[in-house]
Amino acid sequence: MNDFNNVNSVIKVIIGLKVKENSIVLDSTVGNGNDTEYLSSYLSSKGFIYGFDIQQSAIEATRARLSSIGFENFQLFLDGHENIDKYINREIDFAVYNLGYLPKADHTITTKSETTIQSISKAMDMLSIGGCICIASYISHDGGVEYRDVKNFLKSVNQQNFNIAEIDFINQKNFPAHLFIIEKRN
Ligand code: SAM
Repeated sequence: MNDFNNVNSVIKVIIGLKVKENSIVLDSTVGNGNDTEYLSSYLSSKGFIYGFDIQQSAIEATRARLSSIGFENFQLFLDGHENIDKYINREIDFAVYNLGYLPKADHTITTKSETTIQSISKAMDMLSIGGCICIASYISHDGGVEYRDVKNFLKSVNQQNFNIAEIDFINQKNFPAHLFIIEKRN
């Protein structure tokens, strides 16, 4: 098992570092529930997952997946992640964004710069000290528009409040996804 071969493997490394059994976590784009299920494996009954997606099928697939492994501490919302503040009134310790569209589904249903940035900004406001947000951003699906917009937004964030890094798999072909990592400073 390699730790650094793509965004998803690095996100797993960061989840291992940051997510504790009592963490409150957010999956902003649940899709087929891969990230949600992985997050649940770190949580005890003291932890909790909030999940969002705008596709009913994604919410149902994720609910079925969590139920099949007996995980109960979650709420899933069929709504855009730009509205997280309507549903979550507490600090979160970790959030993941897997941007773009769901593979093997309708490729026109995709995350978009404006709502993605609104959501990230709200999640940053909710983040606990030391908490972390991971954002997998794809370059190829929209000519890199969302990636560039998210990057420009993150570059403007005050470094006194957040540590922000970008991982680029520089020897890989075919425009591999980039990973943004946001950590709330002490
Ligand atoms: N993490 C997912 C998994 O493990 O399968 C994959 C996510 S997929 C790359 C992106 C998802 O974002 C799609 O399921 C899509 O419906 C969802 N999405 C698009 N716009 C959204 C929005 N404004 N709020 C929440 N989800 C959105």
